Amino acid sequence: MADVDTQRDAVIAALDNVAERLTAEKSYLTDLDSAIGDADHGSNMQRGFSKAAEKRDEFADMDPDDIVKTIGTTLISNVGGASGPLYGGSIMFASQELDGGITAETSVAFAEAYLDKVKDRGGAQVGSKTMVDALVPAVHTYKKSIEQDDLPPLEALAKAVDAAERGVQFTTPIKALKGRASFLDWRSVGHQDPGATSTLFIMEELLATAEEYLDGDVERDARAADAVRRDE
Ligand code: ADP
Ligand code: MG
Repeated sequence: MADVDTQRDAVIAALDNVAERLTAEKSYLTDLDSAIGDADHGSNMQRGFSKAAEKRDEFADMDPDDIVKTIGTTLISNVGGASGPLYGGSIMFASQELDGGITAETSVAFAEAYLDKVKDRGGAQVGSKTMVDALVPAVHTYKKSIEQDDLPPLEALAKAVDAAERGVQFTTPIKALKGRASFLDWRSVGHQDPGATSTLFIMEELLATAEEYLDGDVERDARAADAVRRDE
């Protein structure tokens, strides 16, 4: 991506879009968490990302990787529960990969580092009914699209978002093995995972921001689109 000023603007725009989206989805995410958790995922996500977005004055002279790191530390200090350390700690850790700026290559490294940290910290695998079920297919698809298929980052990201969406759908019919939902055992079956869903919403906003900054317009897969959304 372009020069450091444009990269900084893009990171701040992405953060604003994510904060706004999570504010709009707060009650939906809370409804999902009330079915298999403690009904706080919407407010956790809304609070954490809104606090980060409020730091925009501090971001003016910062490098993009430092802004991303600050988003992570802000989530850690403002969001408790499972999702604060998982989202915040992993964003903070992965921000190192953006040290040399945001490129196709460093964005893949960021995505992989983020996924590794979430798995490390939480111990969840695909099939545990957590955010990992959205992340694994998304990160694998993104990496393959860039490194093997030589797709432009925007197309790679659109494919990754579709993969995340299918991952979210996959959480519904399976039993939770990690997090609060696992306390419900078989009663967790039939409910969509809140953390996988917020992961998808964040990725959708990254895609929308990338479309703006990379001057493109990509199609999402019609099969995946709208399958896991709240009723409008
Ligand atoms: P809490 O469960 O502490 O109330 P939240 O409600 O904010 O925290 O987040 C719940 C989400 O966190 C779950 O839907 C799941 O996606 C994710 N999660 C919980 N435990 C783990 C874990 N061990 N590994 C990965 N993700 C997890
Ligand atoms: Mg909760």
